[in-house]
Order: sequence, then structure tokens, then C-alpha cells
Amino acid sequence: MEEVSAIKSILNCNCPRCRKGIVFKYKNPYHRKFGEIKKKCSNCDLVYEMEQGFWYGAMYVSYGFGVAIAIPTMLVLTYITDLEIYQITGVIFLLLIATMPLLFRYSRSVWLHIFIRYDKAVKKLK
Ligand SMILES: [Zn+2]
Repeated sequence: MEEVSAIKSILNCNCPRCRKGIVFKYKNPYHRKFGEIKKKCSNCDLVYEMEQGFWYGAMYVSYGFGVAIAIPTMLVLTYITDLEIYQITGVIFLLLIATMPLLFRYSRSVWLHIFIRYDKAVKKLK
């Protein structure tokens, strides 16, 4: 069986322990219930929310992603266009709203991969 890299696992929102199970209930990030997370991995039975409030920490990752989008966008728009600062702020705001489901998912996926290591020994249970 081929081994899945951590980056690929994060991008696919896979379980960090077995890298096979899917964390989110709906595959489409723009599904209206995009944020719903399964209770545990369908492959290795890892419980995703290890403790109450575990996902609050993902906000730090999400903030980092937001800044990583906002700063380059601001710099590019400032030097390439004649837009005013309030227009640039509006563009960044719309961009962050449009990418919000993706930021939400990837921040949680990164957060989960920070705390749970890949375990080669974990086999399919069912
Ligand atoms: Zn798993």
C-alpha cells in the first residue's frame, strides 16, 4: 500500500493517523454544511475532537492563512492598480469571504495534523 504524504493528507483533509479516512462529512468545501466533522475516523476509529474546545486552536492557523492571503493581495493591488485603500480592503474582504470554507477546512486539517502523528501500524479496522 502506498504511503500518503502529510501535505497530501492535509490537502485532502484525511485522518492524520491513518491518512485514509475523511475528516469532513461532505467532500465539497462549498456544501452548505461544509464545517461538519465526523465524530471519528471511518478507517481507524480515531476520535477527531480529542477534548472539548479542541478546534478553537485552529483559529490561529486560520488567522495565519487569512494574513497570508490579505498581505500579498494588498501589495499586488497597491502596486499594480490605482485602487484606493478602502477599495483594496473591500477586495480583500470579498476574497476572504469567498475562500472562507477552504480556510476553515484547511486550518482544521493542519491543526489536527499538528497534534496527531501518522501511524504506519494502524490498519483498517473494519
Ligand atoms: Zn484514521
